[in-house]
Amino acid sequence: MLSKRDFLRAAGLTVASRVATRAFEPKESDRKVIVVTFGGGVRYAETFAPQGLVNIPRLARLKAEGHFYRDCRNLGVLSHFNSTASIVTGNWQRVDDFGFQPPASTTVFEAFRKERKAGAMDAWAICTNKSFASIGSAAGAGANVVLPKQLLIEAVKDVARRAGMGVADRENVQRRLESILQEGYEGVGWTIFKAGRQLDQRVRQTLTHALVEYIHGPEAPASGDELTFFIAREVMREFSPRLLLVNFWDMDVAHWGAYSLYLQAITRTDRLVGMLWNEVRENAKYRDKTTVLVLPELGRDGDMNTANGFLNHRSGDASCRNMWLLALGAGAEKGETERPVAHIDVAATVAELLGVKWASEGKALKEIA
Ligand SMILES: [Zn+2]
Repeated sequence: MLSKRDFLRAAGLTVASRVATRAFEPKESDRKVIVVTFGGGVRYAETFAPQGLVNIPRLARLKAEGHFYRDCRNLGVLSHFNSTASIVTGNWQRVDDFGFQPPASTTVFEAFRKERKAGAMDAWAICTNKSFASIGSAAGAGANVVLPKQLLIEAVKDVARRAGMGVADRENVQRRLESILQEGYEGVGWTIFKAGRQLDQRVRQTLTHALVEYIHGPEAPASGDELTFFIAREVMREFSPRLLLVNFWDMDVAHWGAYSLYLQAITRTDRLVGMLWNEVRENAKYRDKTTVLVLPELGRDGDMNTANGFLNHRSGDASCRNMWLLALGAGAEKGETERPVAHIDVAATVAELLGVKWASEGKALKEIA
């Protein structure tokens, strides 16, 4: 463990080096971008269709403050990894569905880090989906990826395996988390680019602390998405990255056939997006300079065509593909756009907002500047 003094020194060093690099950068580099996905797939019918608004009270209200794209299409492979990989690369992806391969083309995280000389702590992806360990980069240095739920599951499983150790014992879980984070290999739940020894320790300490606080805090860990939100907020407070992907995923519980659990997960994600937006407005490092893009990763099957209805997302019909995108905050002109846009336009838009030169199949959305 770092002593408090070491911790502060590490934090101080980071701030100093950031100030030094940023002094020479153009003004637009102040912009921050957060991409939030309703991962796992959610239909128009349960969200922005008139009968769906009841499930998303916060987004329904926020819509009037931002720019709403009524027709944002996923024209790629309708699996989770490929859908989000298309969002972060700007090219329709067709790689392994379970995340055993990285995206096939450069992610906007990598382009941002390379071109803007952004540091290792400046791009993060916090994901509920356990197969997203390699979502942060195709080949180079991209986003740090944290899968908080997987980290916690690993630690608790490990403690439970050891005779005489109570899972409820904070110390045991904390020790296991620390050693898992020490190992830091891909797949277990985190892929962090080295940013110097001290900073790396600070990352470990931040994550361990946040996870342990979370499991023993006043709110019980009711869902993976809540944990994802909690860690994303810690990362914002501790490292204030300029580019952040937050992947919520619990609504994919729909595959198990429980419509009520699917609706609950949607409403929980709506609440968490509202809380994330509150953090953006209250956190001085994000306020007034952050663009938040919220969109479903994919839809789900229509009720009429497959007999499965909301359960799956494989029919390829409009209910699976035609979704929406809500842009909030800096540069998101109030209003609505009818023109069809696509998931691959997100990376181009992010690149433009962050001042990164970018070429992809997608086009930057001109209503967001
Ligand atoms: Zn699914």
